[in-house]
Amino acid sequence: MAPLLQATGLEVHYGPVEAVRGVDFEIGEGEIVVFLGANGAGKSSTLNALVGLVPVQAGTVQFADSDITKARAETLTPAGLTLVPEGRRVFGTLSVAENLLMGAYGIRDKAQVAAAWDRVYTLFPILHERRGQFAGTLSGGQQQMLAIGRALMSNPKLLLLDEPSLGLAPKIVEQVFDLIVTLRDQGVTLGVVEQNAMQSLAIADRGYIFAGGRIVGSGSAQDLGESSLLSGAYLDA
Ligand code: ATP
Repeated sequence: MAPLLQATGLEVHYGPVEAVRGVDFEIGEGEIVVFLGANGAGKSSTLNALVGLVPVQAGTVQFADSDITKARAETLTPAGLTLVPEGRRVFGTLSVAENLLMGAYGIRDKAQVAAAWDRVYTLFPILHERRGQFAGTLSGGQQQMLAIGRALMSNPKLLLLDEPSLGLAPKIVEQVFDLIVTLRDQGVTLGVVEQNAMQSLAIADRGYIFAGGRIVGSGSAQDLGESSLLSGAYLDA
């Protein structure tokens, strides 16, 4: 079966900085794929390039049956590809419900949006409880749930999460990982950048290890967990 997303020879440059130097990877339908590696290894730049937030310098990105290498971010959400960027970035002075509604921007099918409200409020009862509250008053963990809930409002086929557990207490981190598994069980495919290597490999199907803008290792989650590559990728940073 063809992968849901396939990147070939992907490069991202910021002026003279070659952040991503020709990476090849794929995400199969129904998989949880994790992207691991030290700070600055090029993981965020890779995710941002997939959704058109930074330009692709070279290479191609294929999503479902389309070449999306040059697609703009706002056209990809309705097509089923959504990124939750690092750092949550909810709109603090908008209500929880208003934040969620922004995630449905560009989705014309009203029944689909109604179903998305139900799904998000079922997954996150706390967001329903607090729907009228300013998002800025939520805890860090609740803001992360809101950021993910907002992304789910577009009913993504492929959801990309950039460091979803960053800065959260261990108990909340566990909830975030449980949520990722729940979403996969509901049919969402997930690509996840994580610093929590072992914890994320425990829920993932496969992974890629980044170092210095390149992929230096890949394999099943189990193989990567046992691999010495992993410690190398972090120690070399
Ligand atoms: P982190 O976990 O810190 O986000 P990362 O693996 O996601 O790390 P990137 O954020 O993609 O790595 O960064 C890769 C390289 O690109 C780093 O050298 C970084 O300093 C550089 N970089 C990232 N964003 C920019 C930018 N907007 N302008 C210039 N250089 C950048």
